[in-house]
Amino acid sequence: MESKILLTGQTLTFRGDPFVTPWQDCVQIDSAGAVLLEGARIVAVGTAQALKAAHPGARAISYGDDLICPGFVDAHVHYAQTAMIASWGKRLIDWLNTYTFPEEALFANQGYPEQIAARYLDLTAAHGTTTVASFATIHPASVDAIFEAAAARGQCVVAGKTCMDRNAPDNLRDTVQSAYDDSKALIARWHGKGRANYAITPRFSPTSTPEQLSTLGALWAEHPDCLMQTHLSEQPDEIAWVHSLYPQARDYLDTYEAHGLLGDRGLYGHCVHLTPREIDRLAEVQGRVIHCPTSNAFIGSGLLDLPALAARGIPLGLATDTGGGSSFSMLRTMAAAYEAGQHHGHAIHAAQLMWLATAGSARALHLDHQIGHLAAGHFADIAVIDMKSTPAIAQRANRAGDVWEDVFATLMMGDDRAIRATWIAGKPVAGTAVPDA
Ligand SMILES: [Zn+2]
Repeated sequence: MESKILLTGQTLTFRGDPFVTPWQDCVQIDSAGAVLLEGARIVAVGTAQALKAAHPGARAISYGDDLICPGFVDAHVHYAQTAMIASWGKRLIDWLNTYTFPEEALFANQGYPEQIAARYLDLTAAHGTTTVASFATIHPASVDAIFEAAAARGQCVVAGKTCMDRNAPDNLRDTVQSAYDDSKALIARWHGKGRANYAITPRFSPTSTPEQLSTLGALWAEHPDCLMQTHLSEQPDEIAWVHSLYPQARDYLDTYEAHGLLGDRGLYGHCVHLTPREIDRLAEVQGRVIHCPTSNAFIGSGLLDLPALAARGIPLGLATDTGGGSSFSMLRTMAAAYEAGQHHGHAIHAAQLMWLATAGSARALHLDHQIGHLAAGHFADIAVIDMKSTPAIAQRANRAGDVWEDVFATLMMGDDRAIRATWIAGKPVAGTAVPDA
């Protein structure tokens, strides 16, 4: 009994970085493509005709004209903010105090982290997202909950305990020592177990003392294969606050650099208002800039000039930043990235947007050897996109001159209705379409 599965449809593959190489030379859509799965992995990608001939016993599943692409990789989220997404009327610091911290405090309650982690992974899978890099809360149980929920789904997740020892409510503060001890214990429990990847997670410089940042820097030096995730340069008020808290620092990035928290496995969320030195330094060390355009628009942070950072050779990822972002959808996030680029006179192509949301984000997380591509040996984490998911999109798609016009209409106007199916580790997610050929 052959256990192989053959998905047929239009397939999206990458041979390079479309911000470096012209997208026409490194991004391809095969209109009669196929992906062969065995167990949790992709074992071959090619034309439907060739793979059908070579594997006549494989179970064939036809997605017609749908676009089969790598599952979306959301490189910066706060799963704990799921229940308070789309909260009205505040900018960053007031938004944290008014909405975020009270919600994150609920994660001290037994059972709540498990409930939200399961809800979050179900919601994001329904939006075609197969990997996230998430901040948890200060509670170790919030990290256990997201990794346990991911393991139950066979899912690759990056997560870490958020560390804060000042400028947060009493019930959301750890200490220098407890942040180190709890993070270290979580690394031992989870990092590299199955598909779990630990990220050392200081929330941002204003909520950590210099001593806490140094101690987390030391922890990272002890575990250099872990990622490190934080926030950088999101809003002008926040940057001014950082300068007042760290008067010796040359700039915001320097508050991380001086404490051992700058490196190529560092994920820096937002980066909307970087100084020239910060850009130079990030380029030099290959620090990852994670672009969160829906969040930047929603909280009023500003419009990042992403193509300008790409031109400097900085590795980039794309993210919803839920619940600062107002949508779980990476399609909506690609639209917002396009809009922010347009503001700076840069029209980001649909091929570049799709790359950012999949292979680019996977590279930012140092996971592009496992995820982010339809390629043999990679995990079978796949999103199948219906490119005529609403009447408005369908009528535009009918007018499309080529497939990229078609894709672009779905990126600009699509949402979870466009996700025909999501596959994680070779299995269709519950509720997903599995049409036999
Ligand atoms: Zn964030």
